[in-house]
Amino acid sequence: MTKTLNKDRAIVVFSGGQDSTTCLFYAKQKYEEVILVTFEYGQRHDKEIEVAKAIAKEQGLEHHVLDMSLLSQLTPNALTNHDMDIETNDDGMPNTFVPARNLLFLSFAGALSYQLDAKTIITGVCETDFSGYPDCRDAFIKSMNVTLNLSMDQNFVIETPLMWLDKKETWALSDELGALDYVRNKTLTCYNGVIGDGCGECPACKLRQRGLEQYINSRGEA
Ligand SMILES: [Zn+2]
Repeated sequence: MTKTLNKDRAIVVFSGGQDSTTCLFYAKQKYEEVILVTFEYGQRHDKEIEVAKAIAKEQGLEHHVLDMSLLSQLTPNALTNHDMDIETNDDGMPNTFVPARNLLFLSFAGALSYQLDAKTIITGVCETDFSGYPDCRDAFIKSMNVTLNLSMDQNFVIETPLMWLDKKETWALSDELGALDYVRNKTLTCYNGVIGDGCGECPACKLRQRGLEQYINSRGEA
């Protein structure tokens, strides 16, 4: 029943942001075949999907966009107050955030990997960033890896190249991969939908910018 997964084929969970685009270049360096999967679930901006599609096309990679719009049925505004506006909380997260979202995404990424015979699943989750969602932590990812393998009788490997990196170190990694300028200019992290260096005002832009400045300064001294 266990099939032989292709160890040279990797799937990257891809949003078109800095972190997952860095993972894309990490995957391209390490694996012969890279496939991208993007989850569409009422993102802050449809622009995220457009950016993800554009990068996938430019990099010549197979790209699957999965419809996860059912997540909107689990958001606070759907469950408790139908008139609630979609707002951004102080931490920059929209109030449409769904608990255990990454659990759901990795389950679907695992099912897709089974269908496409890809042994490796790469995700840009990170324990050191500010968000601290439990299903982005290392212990959860290890647990999820075991769960995926048991659920499908396979031997998938979930890789998290950014798990212990801060934003400065993530920029350093993209530079090592020869992709710093690409990641800087083509990705979308900004909550206001501004590609590249962004609006400069939102929490995501500030975090990204601070890391970039720290990295460029450290490189200058080296
Ligand atoms: Zn911004």
